[in-house]
Formats: sequence, C-alpha cells, structure tokens
Amino acid sequence: MQKFIRNKGKIEEIKPFKSKNGKVFARLRGMKDVLPDEYRYWSLISKKINELTKTYGYKRIDTPILENAELYERSTGKTSDIIAKEMFSFIDKNDDKIALRPEGTPGIVRSYVEHGMFNLPQPVKLFWLGQVFRHDKPQAGRFRQFTQIDLECIGEKGPVIDAQLILIAYNFFKELQIDIMIQINSIGCSECRKAYINKLENYYKERGNRTKLCNDCKRRLGKNSLRLLDCKEDQCIAISADAPQIIDYLCEECKNHFVKVLEYLDEVEVPYNLNSHLVRGLDYYSKTVFEIWPIDADDSNVEVSRQLALGGGGRYDGLVEYLGGRPAPACGFGIGVERVILKIKEKNIPLKDDDQADIFVAQLGDQARRKAMILFEELRRAGLQVRQDFSKDSLKNQLEVANKLGTKYSLILGQKEIVDGTILIRDMESGIQEVVDFKKIRQEITKRLNNEIK
Ligand SMILES: [Zn+2]
Ligand SMILES: [Zn+2]
Repeated sequence: MQKFIRNKGKIEEIKPFKSKNGKVFARLRGMKDVLPDEYRYWSLISKKINELTKTYGYKRIDTPILENAELYERSTGKTSDIIAKEMFSFIDKNDDKIALRPEGTPGIVRSYVEHGMFNLPQPVKLFWLGQVFRHDKPQAGRFRQFTQIDLECIGEKGPVIDAQLILIAYNFFKELQIDIMIQINSIGCSECRKAYINKLENYYKERGNRTKLCNDCKRRLGKNSLRLLDCKEDQCIAISADAPQIIDYLCEECKNHFVKVLEYLDEVEVPYNLNSHLVRGLDYYSKTVFEIWPIDADDSNVEVSRQLALGGGGRYDGLVEYLGGRPAPACGFGIGVERVILKIKEKNIPLKDDDQADIFVAQLGDQARRKAMILFEELRRAGLQVRQDFSKDSLKNQLEVANKLGTKYSLILGQKEIVDGTILIRDMESGIQEVVDFKKIRQEITKRLNNEIK
C-alpha cells in the first residue's frame, strides 16, 4: 500500500526506509513487539497477578530461557505436541542439545530439585512469569514467543491446593472482568489409569472405530491413547462421544481426591464444568487436570473456546521424583498472557491510565526553559506527579500535551514572568490562569492539590 505525505504543499509518496545495502529487517514470523501503547495491558496484568500471588503466599522465581532439551523430553513427554512438533532446539558449540523453554513447569521443578528446596518448609509455593517458545502455526492470540504466568505448589498432596489454585485462576479472570468457565477432570494415578486406558483402547479398536480416526489418532492409539479423547478433528470427536469415562475407573484414593476438589470449589462458589474429555497433552499430569476457557456471550462454539484456552494446569505428583528429587506431590497452572490481553481488548474493558499526572511545566523562550528545567526537578524531587515536554517551543503545543496527559494544572513560565519573578498557574479544566510569586510556587501548587483531595 502506498502512503503519502503533504510536504510544503506538494503531495509526496512516503518511501520505506532502506539501509545502505537495501535490506529492511522485520521481526520473525510469529514474534511480537510490545509497543508502548500496549504496555498498559501488561502493567494491569502484572499488577493483578502480583496482588493475588502475594495474598495466597506464592513467591516469585525466575529460571533460564535455555535448558537441556532432555529436561522437556523426559518431563513434558516425547509424544506430546509441544515436544514432538513445537520445541525450538539446537545443538550448541559443545554439541549439547539445548532447548528454548516451551513451558515453565519442568524448569521450575528442576530448580526445586537442584536447590534442595525440599529442605524448606513444605509446600513451596512458586510464582513464575516468563517467555516461552513454541514453533506453532501463528494465529490470533498465539505467538511463537509468548508469555506465561505459572503458579506451582510443590510438596503438598491435599486436594485443597488443587482447589485453591483453581480459585486463584478464577479470581484473576473475574477481577479482570473476563468471563471464563473452568473445565475440570481427573485422569487418575498411574495405577487406575492403566485399567482405564486398556478399556479405552479396546473401545477405539472395536466396531471399526479405528479406521475412522484421523491419522494422528491412529498413530497415537496404543502410545498416548488418552490424547484421542481431546482430538479436535470432527470424525474423532464423533467417535469419542461414546468412549468410556475415566471417572468410572478411578481408584478409591483418586476418586476421593477429586470429590474433595469439587466440594471445595462448590464451597467457594467457583463454577466448573465436568469435562470427561479433558486430558491435557502432557505426560506428567495425574489426578486433577483443568483448563480455563473463555465464555463469549455471542459464541456458543465450544471448539473455538477450547482451542483458545486461556490457561490450564493440574496435579503432577510424580514429576519431582522423576526428575531426580525426593518424592514430592505437586500441582500448578499456567496462563497465557497474550491471550488474556486479546480478551481484554476484544471486550473493550476500560483501562485506568495509571500514568495520570497532576502538574505540567510549560515554558516559552530559552531563558524560561532553563528556569523551568530547574523547577521541574525540584517538584519531582518533592514527590509531585509532574510532566514536561521541553523540546517543544510553542505554548499551544505544550498545553496540548498537558491536556493529553490529563494534568490538572500547568505552570507556565515566559519572558514576562522571568522579569517579574512570577509564574502562571493554569487550571486545565476551567482555563483560568493566575499569577503567583515564583518563590511560592511549590507551596501554592501543593495547597491546591491537597484541597482537591478533600
Ligand atoms: Zn488412582
Ligand atoms: Zn484424531
């Protein structure tokens, strides 16, 4: 598309900037720049999650972006889509296979084990926020580098933790005014799941069901049979509709655990939908699994919701031991930040601008500019919310900036005021201006701001 600009009355075409060798760089496919205008969404989200994690006792942890690729192959699972299709990995200069983390949990568990966190009072509650990388097909709300919030509670087997994590996720969305529904299921423990998978495999093999499955499912059957339940292909959804449900095969312990989780959720009035087809695609889950699906008033298409799940998680009682630690039951969840932002934008949820300032310092002429710069620093150091745009010469332009920033007062310093030793206070709403002794400006402006709060 051609773009034009008016230059001294003549219309000229804007030519894209070309470097000397003619190459113009663009970001990689599936990657995203977060521009200043969008950053207020990020601030909102980090403020909300910081508030919640503090209240529920989760402490911040960061882990490296690069890890040994085997960490993910062993924990997330070689047959999972994340590892089999989407992980960014490469061989480094030492011939080691390195991965850009495709999810948060394995690195957090590695850190728990490596730093002997089992010596700390249990459970250890961790909050993580970082970039993850998946070589996925880019689409709305889905990028190859994206950001996840992870909460992990390691060292506690009680079902109250599962319920509380779901409650935290629920509160997060509710307080951001995003309507969601929790989808929940139990996939049992390694013991009871075995019997169920047997039943499930028999079901898919009988009555010619197998031939109707998609190619992915044909391949998965017998290797990762649970995954057939959440395949998104129409023919597989139709066959899975009558598949046996794991709930009927849970052992006593798994069943009691699940019932308790649901009871706690009922108690704190978190709505949920029992979803017998929810399995999550990762190897390490056991017992409770859940996902957070958006509800759109005008959208009854469940498939769209599931593909754009805003987050999910579950229990992973065996992972810590599997990664070489002392056995420690655990539970956690992740939220995709970019998808949450997309929801906030879609729903036009009004955002408060926390960049609101009280005072704008404007100047006219070089001498006034110098004096205004000193005044600005003085007010800033006094803790006042003050703004400026000293690169502009025209008063009109400066007051426009002040208006945009929503400042209550502008302090205007011009040649006349310099000579008189005064300064103008302009009430930005009424436009009324008042001359004040320059030496008293700090007291004057503080007094007005204080009056306003009352
Ligand atoms: Zn069990
Ligand atoms: Zn399928």
